[in-house]
Amino acid sequence: MGMCKPSGGIDKIIGRVGSLPRIWLPNTRLDLYDGIGNLLQQGWYGPDGKIIWYRDWSHGGGYHDWPHDHYVNWDNPKNPRPPYIGPNGEKTNSDFC
Ligand SMILES: [Zn+2]
Repeated sequence: MGMCKPSGGIDKIIGRVGSLPRIWLPNTRLDLYDGIGNLLQQGWYGPDGKIIWYRDWSHGGGYHDWPHDHYVNWDNPKNPRPPYIGPNGEKTNSDFC
């Protein structure tokens, strides 16, 4: 199973970038698509249902490598989604998928 296929399963919603809920079903992954089937963002949810990880496939705000990951910083509302950079400069964390 692991984080790629979490024990609570994978759900899909349609919406806009940023519309992933911060709280969802425990131990799940939620994939956010736009209305024409483009994957926008993925969120991983922990045992308490709080989001623990983001993978972004599309959003505004300048140049980015796609996809890239963000930590979730529940304790710092001023910087709630710090970018992930792996030990070798990776933009995504293979632990999650
Ligand atoms: Zn991003």
